[in-house]
Amino acid sequence: MSHTGCPICVTHTTSDGMVQLSDGTQVCKKCGHVIFPLESGFRCECIHCIQLRNPSPPTPFLAA
Ligand SMILES: [Zn+2]
Ligand SMILES: [Zn+2]
Repeated sequence: MSHTGCPICVTHTTSDGMVQLSDGTQVCKKCGHVIFPLESGFRCECIHCIQLRNPSPPTPFLAA
């Protein structure tokens, strides 16, 4: 692989690459998405992943 990009941002805009830390962790400069190559169970806390795990709550007037 010659280029790495945030799998989330790349779907919205051009791939801009990610910052790779010394331990191999990759962090997206745009959205903060984090990839741990050695820890597949890691749960990213970026805005996109939080939205994926927490769907929009029901609207108040429909619940009343
Ligand atoms: Zn991103
Ligand atoms: Zn994320």
